[in-house]
Amino acid sequence: MKIICIGRNYTAHIDELKNVRPEEPVVFIKPDSSVLPKQQDFYIPEFSDNVHYEVEVLVKIKKVGKHISKEFAPTYYDEIGLGIDFTARDLQSKLKEKGLPWEKAKGFDGAAVIGEWLPKTDFKDINNLNFKLLKNDEIVQEGNTSFMLWKIDEIIAYVSTFFMLKKGDIIFTGTPAGVGKISPNDYLTGSLEDKELFTIKIK
Ligand code: ZN
Repeated sequence: MKIICIGRNYTAHIDELKNVRPEEPVVFIKPDSSVLPKQQDFYIPEFSDNVHYEVEVLVKIKKVGKHISKEFAPTYYDEIGLGIDFTARDLQSKLKEKGLPWEKAKGFDGAAVIGEWLPKTDFKDINNLNFKLLKNDEIVQEGNTSFMLWKIDEIIAYVSTFFMLKKGDIIFTGTPAGVGKISPNDYLTGSLEDKELFTIKIK
């Protein structure tokens, strides 16, 4: 199982990190070992003083495919979820400066939070889903999938030209504005269309 992540997919988040709007999706991979086991707390790794939450809508791939067209992309998933792309922002900034890959800042153990899954048939339009992240009961991120620069089906078409998609692969579709630092004893709660899909305690 692999996790394919899209970066810089919401305009306001591109602006807050002072990034340039990309001409093509920014793509990176997290290893399967980065998945935070269910019901487990998240431990801030010792190599970072600035781990950020990034709440993202997730898609679970249900069959093998490559070079998938946008039109056929919907036949490759039945489930939609919500998760966190934890990012060691201090380490990522150093790597970015040097033009090095981000894996150490994005792929460490526990860096991928995957919440409960919902059938896509629960939703009228997956390109108009509201989602939010609460930190200690206060809303810190709010988004709607209609604001994605690349929509879910376009992402599947694009990434499948580079990577064969396999059953069980998960796509993280990018974060909206409002990313921020976590501290010990924080707890994070994510909701998709008012259904709570995860709660994580920070240690
Ligand atoms: Zn992200």
